[in-house]
Amino acid sequence: MARFGTDAQCIDAICKARWPRGFECPGCGAMRHFRLSSGLFQCQDCRKQTSPTAGTIFQGTKLPLTVWFQAMHLLTQGKHSVSALP
Ligand SMILES: [Zn+2]
Repeated sequence: MARFGTDAQCIDAICKARWPRGFECPGCGAMRHFRLSSGLFQCQDCRKQTSPTAGTIFQGTKLPLTVWFQAMHLLTQGKHSVSALP
């Protein structure tokens, strides 16, 4: 639970899942980027701005990311405990 205690930690987890090798611009494929204070990534080459949550189920969600992650954490825990039964 503590791993996903803040929105920033959730954003980081989403980024790692989307870009395991680091941010990659969906526009031009460049990896050089800025992080804007709003949490957006801006490509240094084509200056396209990308939200880490764009195109994911988290896009435009009204729920805080922490709630999503805790719910998913509970779901995966549940699956594990079921499959661990004899
Ligand atoms: Zn780019």
